Amino acid sequence: MAAVSLMKGQVSWKIMYPSLITYIVGCLLIFISHPVISATPSPSLGFELSQKQSDSNRAVRISKSKYQGPIFDAHIHYNPPGRQNPDNATPEMIWKMLKSQNVTHALVMPTPNEGHSRNHDEGAKLKQELVRVSGGKVQRFCGSNYLNLWLHRAYHEEYNEDDLASRLDLLRKDLMSGKCIGIGEIATYHFEKNPRQSGRLLEIPFNFPPFLKIVSEVAKNQRWFLLHAEPMDPNGKSFEAQVFGGIALLYEQNSELKLILAHSAMTNSDNVRQLLLHYPSLMVDLKLVTKHHEWRYLEPIVNTDDNIYEDWAKLFEEFPTRFLVGTDAKFGRQGWTIEKYVKRIASMRKMLGSLPTDVAQRIAYENVHELIKKL
Ligand SMILES: [Zn+2]
Repeated sequence: MAAVSLMKGQVSWKIMYPSLITYIVGCLLIFISHPVISATPSPSLGFELSQKQSDSNRAVRISKSKYQGPIFDAHIHYNPPGRQNPDNATPEMIWKMLKSQNVTHALVMPTPNEGHSRNHDEGAKLKQELVRVSGGKVQRFCGSNYLNLWLHRAYHEEYNEDDLASRLDLLRKDLMSGKCIGIGEIATYHFEKNPRQSGRLLEIPFNFPPFLKIVSEVAKNQRWFLLHAEPMDPNGKSFEAQVFGGIALLYEQNSELKLILAHSAMTNSDNVRQLLLHYPSLMVDLKLVTKHHEWRYLEPIVNTDDNIYEDWAKLFEEFPTRFLVGTDAKFGRQGWTIEKYVKRIASMRKMLGSLPTDVAQRIAYENVHELIKKL
């Protein structure tokens, strides 16, 4: 038990150490260890990190017209059934609403914190029902409901190997079922950015062995892995070394990894350019955040009026095949109305309208379509 705790880089004070020497070594490790540099040394980032915070008043590109074509929304959520689920969140209603917005396809997945819901298994069934109702035009990412919160607790408290083995079994079943295009949304660093997220912190170093086992299963099965990793916390503390060093570690161990970074990787456009140059198979999904106060230090790609920053627009033109639409809709959550989704899609169409048509089409639809076709 002590060995497991030391490997994790953090030590539960409840653990009884067999000897005083082990205890002292454990205490020393608390002081000198850092999650990422503990067990497996992370490779260097492989590129020069830019730690600049972009000016939120910098140049934007004004959209002249809205993109009118089909959208493939590669990042939507759908809560497990519960007392708080609004009536408008049946699979039929959701599919009808997507179609009404000319969102012709979508990828639905559990949120990183879905494991908090006691009936998260039912949530998986509900998502399956949405897939069925849509005739397969909505597909699923699986697994984060039984993996993500478990990983967080396993790292910060303790875990037993049998429990890990049974979760890996579930993961293999999901990967081989043919019903999951990948695993996600898994969050390694997910901070409490607003009061709604209180009690929802997720912090799992990339070199935590159970996490690495999960990633390698996904890579072996050539499915996609959708990762949410915040490189800064809301107080401005940097986790860039952990996140970008962690990504380097994942690719070092799994050269065939199919990785999607959620929400434009939540860093500045210079770092995203470096990531794209470095990892030719890496994809990035895009969410438009206008409430900048809820996205402190995380680099929104639009200003508070919903206009795309020029540096991001240029990056999309430079790498038109690497970005996807990912609204991060939360269907079935209290307060999540249909109007909210309509608004998000309207903003997305406005943003896409500020790009050359071929680039807009690629980001809106073609990129994710191709990525799924290749599976
Ligand atoms: Zn999400």
